[in-house]
Amino acid sequence: MTDAPGQMFDHAAQTMPVEARREQQLADLRALIGRVKDASPQHRAQLGDIDPGDITLENLHQIPAVGKKDLREYYPLEMLCVDKSELRRIHATSGTSGRPTIVAYTEGDLEVLGRTNARVLDAAGAGPGTPVHNAYGYGLFTGGLGLHAGIEHLGACTLPISGGMTERQVLLMRDLGTEILTCTPSYAAAIADYLAQHDIDPASLPLRAGILGAEPWSEGMRESIEKGLGITAIDIFGMCELQGPGVGFETPATKGQMFVNEDYFYPECIDPATGETVAEGEVGELVFTTLRKEAVPVVRYRTGDLASLQRIDDPAGRTLITMSRIVGRADDMLIVRGVNVFPSEIEAVLLDDDRVSTAYTIVIDERGPMPSMTAVTEPAPEVATGDVPALLRELEHRLRDRLGVSCSVVLAEPGGLPRTEIGKAVRVKRWKSGEDSPFPGLLR
Ligand code: AMP
Repeated sequence: MTDAPGQMFDHAAQTMPVEARREQQLADLRALIGRVKDASPQHRAQLGDIDPGDITLENLHQIPAVGKKDLREYYPLEMLCVDKSELRRIHATSGTSGRPTIVAYTEGDLEVLGRTNARVLDAAGAGPGTPVHNAYGYGLFTGGLGLHAGIEHLGACTLPISGGMTERQVLLMRDLGTEILTCTPSYAAAIADYLAQHDIDPASLPLRAGILGAEPWSEGMRESIEKGLGITAIDIFGMCELQGPGVGFETPATKGQMFVNEDYFYPECIDPATGETVAEGEVGELVFTTLRKEAVPVVRYRTGDLASLQRIDDPAGRTLITMSRIVGRADDMLIVRGVNVFPSEIEAVLLDDDRVSTAYTIVIDERGPMPSMTAVTEPAPEVATGDVPALLRELEHRLRDRLGVSCSVVLAEPGGLPRTEIGKAVRVKRWKSGEDSPFPGLLR
């Protein structure tokens, strides 16, 4: 069905009565379970002899959920539910802790990637021909090509610039009349900093909106980006395992609430400790079922992301359920410059080297727009007087290889790091602007 001129993109699907959508979701869910039940070893192990006809939206929560660990077990493509000849693209998660999580797309999956991201761009005010500056990273990461698909699907005009070289980005934004910026919030903040440092009035750029996501950000960050770039900044949520970007999105009129494209991604919200469904509006872990995905569908995938689900009155008439901003992670995954980092990976590198002690703390320096990461550890007594610079360089090199993002290493005096005697060790310290160095004398 085509949309009338001036109407929201994909109007019928976004505004359909909730009950009619639930009927469609149930039909899609049963078809999905029927399709994938025996199609891969992962789905066989998860779904056993479930009869698709017995599944309802109400009892879906009884199916055991799966997580990142389960997907990694079936690396690279053992979860595939279609013939390889149907594959058109492969992406992978941003973290590189050994094996990345691989996702694959059929032509139909790519169509959905485009359609759902087109909804986001339309909500931000893009339309045919609108110049969109896509500064998400292109490559295996889903951000760049995901938004790219949406821009093309909507008929807007892409500048596929990817990240970096901020001076050139600003020049092209001005010269090409860019109206919409798509990138991570930390990069948007870096562009705003560049404007301020070079005395460029944001009003001199035609930018009017930013579609920012892929990493956690706060209302404070939104305010400073909006002011620094002279735009409306809206949040977009997604993850590689579900498709990439385009799972949830705010509109300028519904800041703080992201519409979930629930005709494709059926959401649940559970207590991460008990697995019980939490009440509407209560924070829990988001779990998604990819209702219409073909190549690598997931049934009840635990995202590790904490947020709440609720229905709101959308002035534009969308009836999609909404999710709040992501308020935290159920596991300990960090996201540094868009790359997923598990503290356990840093630990593995440090603990593998006898020249440093087992005590360590990871400091995420969030004082500037681009967070940086430092591992603070202690030398084993015999190396305290040895070739320390060479040791640090070696560790940093190994960390970079393992994590896919740089992590500096500094040494405290032997015994200088705090030890936890009761309760869990606090391994990660976030250093916010205005705060003193968490380790005086070590970090500037
Ligand atoms: P990846 O699969 O590499 O794209 O990483 C997905 C993860 O990035 C999600 O599970 C979230 O933890 C995080 N993420 C994505 N979008 C957002 C967002 N808008 N706000 C906060 N975290 C986000």
